[in-house]
Amino acid sequence: MQKLDCDIVIVGAGMSGLSAARAATRAGKSVIVLEARDRVGGRTLSKTLDNGVTIDLGGQWVAPTQKRVLALIEEFGLKIFKTYQTGDSIAYLNGEKVRYEGVIPKRDPETDADIENGMALLEELAASIPLEAPWTHPRALELDRQTFADWINANLKTEFGRWVYDRLAPGVFSVEACELSLLHVAFYFGAAGGVDRLTSTDGGGQDSRFQTGAQQLSINLAKELGERIRLEQIVTKIEQDSVGVTVTTEDRKYVARRVIVALPPTLTGRIRYVPALPASRDSLTQRMPMGTALKTMVRYRTPFWRADGLSGLVFTDHDTPQLVYDNSPDDGSCGILLLFTEGIAARKWSEKTAEEREAAAIEVLVKCFGAKATEYEEFIEKYWVDEEFSRGCYAGTMPAGAWTSFGPVLSRPVGHIHWAGTETATCWNGYIEGAIQAGERASLEAITSIDDA
Ligand code: FAD
Repeated sequence: MQKLDCDIVIVGAGMSGLSAARAATRAGKSVIVLEARDRVGGRTLSKTLDNGVTIDLGGQWVAPTQKRVLALIEEFGLKIFKTYQTGDSIAYLNGEKVRYEGVIPKRDPETDADIENGMALLEELAASIPLEAPWTHPRALELDRQTFADWINANLKTEFGRWVYDRLAPGVFSVEACELSLLHVAFYFGAAGGVDRLTSTDGGGQDSRFQTGAQQLSINLAKELGERIRLEQIVTKIEQDSVGVTVTTEDRKYVARRVIVALPPTLTGRIRYVPALPASRDSLTQRMPMGTALKTMVRYRTPFWRADGLSGLVFTDHDTPQLVYDNSPDDGSCGILLLFTEGIAARKWSEKTAEEREAAAIEVLVKCFGAKATEYEEFIEKYWVDEEFSRGCYAGTMPAGAWTSFGPVLSRPVGHIHWAGTETATCWNGYIEGAIQAGERASLEAITSIDDA
């Protein structure tokens, strides 16, 4: 074997790769982390605005059950604060604005019961999924052959009920209900601890935010890892033989005993492997598309809607934005509205000019919050599909048939190659928490395999 550069090369300095690197280093292994971008953090990216307030263009929320994220927050002395949700929400549907309490606007008793019943059915399904191996569910094939849209049509009886669940798909996955395997939807909610847990603000997926941005997690991990991280190293090829791996970047080669690839599955398919990957692994990489989302923030001098007793939450049938949150800093020193446009709507609006998107978004905000909504100071948008080293967000998803055909190879090592990335997580899959879990799992696998060799 050639001279080793380290025990384990890690591809990708997102939260998963960095967590894998830390776990391996702590277990006494030498590592090198190769990152394509000129920064760490991957799908977490914080930006400081003109007024000094930090916002997150990527992942931003943390839930009380995300114990790995919370442990890092404590260890690094980072501060989080509860998402603002005091006051009424606004439903802007069919051109009409209605104030209401809660997340989903109430309609007539039949529609309300329909939505509640849909939630109970989905919760039950999510709780039944074996998270380590969804394809072993007794009804796996039946669930995987259906799309989420099929399930909605079969289980929701009212027009508004169907519309609400149809919107849930891009809201959570940033793809449409017809593009998702029902088994994947149930797995994803199950991995987060349920539908209510994932979609809720208080106590759920949107509970709290980072005062100085979520990217601080990666930045702090990177500080600890120091020179082990090599930025602007685009991995193009991974070769393996009986003893180890050679990882090629555009600049040079790195020789190691094992490699952990901590990328979204579809991006793992853009690397060349020698020998070629088994057919099932490559087929998987062709079947886990990234979602499409536009994350936009509009900054105002003050969170003026709060004075009107509004929480900032908007639920609308417009396609840009589709959902609005109050994303102001904890001290309310300025007002920030966070706008999401996801799935087909994001694909459509990405084809328009930035000016057209801005005008359309502000028009909806004016309908919801009045003329003051025109008095914004900054309009910031991020389209993750444009990012060469993400190609979408929030995570890779499984269309019908993918879990039962290719689920078993999602995180199964191929020789000396181990797979990390949030898409391989069994807990909060698709989230920062999942990225950490997956990185730690892959690291342990690689360490064990070195020690057993
Ligand atoms: P990534 O962060 O994608 O890391 C992969 C790394 O690999 C990247 O740094 C990339 O540059 C690098 N790379 C790619 N190709 C190569 C190559 N060939 N060679 C070398 N390096 C390469 N999660 C939450 O928990 N809460 C949220 O509120 C939330 N909201 C989100 C909102 C948005 C807009 C986005 C984009 C994501 C959101 N997420 C959220 C998801 C969360 O950010 C991700 O799950 C998590 O950051 C994924 O981490 P990862 O390490 O698995 O992957």
